[in-house]
Amino acid sequence: MGPRSHSRGDSIARWLAKHRGLWGLLIVVVATLTTALVGLIVEDVVSANGDVSHCSAGVILGSAIGLVLLVLLVLARTKATDDYGTLYYVRLLARDMADWRQTDLAADERGYLDVRIITRSFNPNERAGGIDISDVVTEQVRTIQAEMNSDRVDSGFTVAPNMLLPAGIAFGSGFYWWTGTYMVEFATGVQLRWRQSKEWPALPASPRGAEVQIIRDGEAIESSHTSGAFPVDEDAANSDPTRVMLLKAFLTDNVMFSDPPCRVSETFAVGVPDEPGDWRRVNVVDQPGGAVDSSGVAQVAAVTASIMTARMIRLALHRADTGQVVLALKVPKTVAVAAGWLLINGRRSNPVTDPGCGDPTCKRPGCWRPWEHLVTPYWDQARRAWMLARVHPDQPDLATMAKRVDWTIAAAPPEEN
Ligand SMILES: [Zn+2]
Repeated sequence: MGPRSHSRGDSIARWLAKHRGLWGLLIVVVATLTTALVGLIVEDVVSANGDVSHCSAGVILGSAIGLVLLVLLVLARTKATDDYGTLYYVRLLARDMADWRQTDLAADERGYLDVRIITRSFNPNERAGGIDISDVVTEQVRTIQAEMNSDRVDSGFTVAPNMLLPAGIAFGSGFYWWTGTYMVEFATGVQLRWRQSKEWPALPASPRGAEVQIIRDGEAIESSHTSGAFPVDEDAANSDPTRVMLLKAFLTDNVMFSDPPCRVSETFAVGVPDEPGDWRRVNVVDQPGGAVDSSGVAQVAAVTASIMTARMIRLALHRADTGQVVLALKVPKTVAVAAGWLLINGRRSNPVTDPGCGDPTCKRPGCWRPWEHLVTPYWDQARRAWMLARVHPDQPDLATMAKRVDWTIAAAPPEEN
């Protein structure tokens, strides 16, 4: 596993946050001493009828140092409160899935001013055809919104999502992402903590790290390292609702992939290409040091990973027109949430006429109502199979979703007794 991806600035902020109690105590001590010293000066000045020259130089110097120290301490505490305000842990897992992130959470919550946990679960065996958790996701969005509204605005927010991937995308598309809110990813031995870049939701002019490409049926159509977005293809208008776009993302350190059991008209993929037809393992980090690390794993900025994933979904929705877009993605959980946010809140040339696909006057149904055309499978570890999930209220019911893409229902897991 790669190194912890904290930047130096973040390490300082974290250290400040962990010693928040100490700053409080020091502020009280320094403030008391400074007040006493200033009191002495005032007393001297008053007794000497406004003549400052009677004051001892030591007292004046002490007061000045005290005041400077006081300002620095208050600044340190403000910085800590800004960066490490409230940590929101949002979990949505199957009832039988262990929470591997609990230890990471326990280690990380020290240093935050407050921690709020929003956990829900679902029954993975509810139906053979898949799970419908759209109500749960909607309710979680509503809950975090209410919690954030009741939280202090002068302390920063950090969101740590641990959700089934499609649920993360749906959560992100409904979530109000306060500017400056951090996303935290707990993974074994690595912690990724990042937030929107200055250019967000556009790519930075010169993105750092490995080049991420979007590939359609073997052909590269967009790159994170080419300035300016490619135009969307104009000839692709197609009112065939049975068209199915399969979308894959290779943005984790596991590039093994089995295709979901559905019909496929065209395949889109996003990741860092290696040999033709092959993908590099990827480590998503806050600030990539270079394109690849010493073990050959590509380094991709979380901002770049999120923007390119959302861009692929937008390109595919436009091309699908009235058809379906199947999201079979391997991305970090924070990237799933950010891509969902970008899907709805991404850059538009004109919010009234441009749905966000790149065509400023596009009228295609999938571009305007993306969730009605998104099919969201998830990888079920127990069954070792792709299962369908309904995660957003605009999606059709599971049976309709399955029918539209000719989904083959996975066999039930073997009975235990
Ligand atoms: Zn469009």
